[in-house]
Amino acid sequence: MKLIILGPPGSGKGTIAGRLEKEFKFKQISAGELLREEVAKGTTIGKDIQKIMEKGGLVPNNLVNEIVRLEIQGKKHYILDGFPRTLEQAKSINDLPITKVLYAEVPLKVVVERLSGRRVCAKGIHNYHLKYIPPRKAGVCDVDKTPLRRRKDDAPLSVQRRFQVYQKQTLPVIRYYKRKRILVTVDARGEPHRVYQLVKKALHLHG
Ligand code: AMP
Repeated sequence: MKLIILGPPGSGKGTIAGRLEKEFKFKQISAGELLREEVAKGTTIGKDIQKIMEKGGLVPNNLVNEIVRLEIQGKKHYILDGFPRTLEQAKSINDLPITKVLYAEVPLKVVVERLSGRRVCAKGIHNYHLKYIPPRKAGVCDVDKTPLRRRKDDAPLSVQRRFQVYQKQTLPVIRYYKRKRILVTVDARGEPHRVYQLVKKALHLHG
C-alpha cells in the first residue's frame, strides 16, 4: 500500500500517519519531519531551510523531492505525510503507483485551536495537545521525558501564512488527485481516535 495523506496544517496528518504506521507497519514518511532533521544537523542548507520553515513558507521543490525520494527508496508500504504539497511535487512522483490519497478535511477555526495548543517534545518527534492529547505529566514527553515546547511555526503569524500557502499551493494538489479518482476524503474535525476509525473505514483497513 502506497498512501499520501494531505490536509491543512493542524488537520492531524501526522497523528493519523503515526497510528497507521503503528497498527499496519506502513512506513510514515513525513516531509516536515525530514526537513526538521536536516535543520537539526545545522548544515548551511539546514539553516536556509530553517528560515523558510519558521516563517511558514514552502521549502523549494527540488530539495524536498530529493529528500523524500531518498527515504522512499526500497520501501513497499508507506504513507507520505505532507508530501506532495505543490502540483510540481505531485507531478514529480507520477511514476509511483500510489494506491490512495487521503484528504483530512477540517475548517480553519478548528485548525487554529489545534495548533495553538499543540506541543512537541524537545526532539521534535512526539506531538501532544494541551487539551486533546495531554501528556501524562504536564510539560514532559511521555516517551523520551524531554520538555515539551511549542513549534516556532505554530506561532499565530506563521500559522496564518501556512494556511495561505496551503490554500494556494496544496488545494490544487487535492483537486488533481480528485480528478485522478484516487482521493478519499475524511472528516477530520473529531478527536483523534474517532478520526482514525473513519480513516480505517475509508481505506477499507481492518485491525
Ligand atoms: P509539517 O510538519 O507538515 O507541518 O511541515 C512543516 C513545514 O515544513 C512546512 O510549513 C514547510 O515549511 C515545510 N514543508 C513540509 N512539507 C513540505 C513540502 N512537501 N514542500 C515544501 N515544504 C514543506
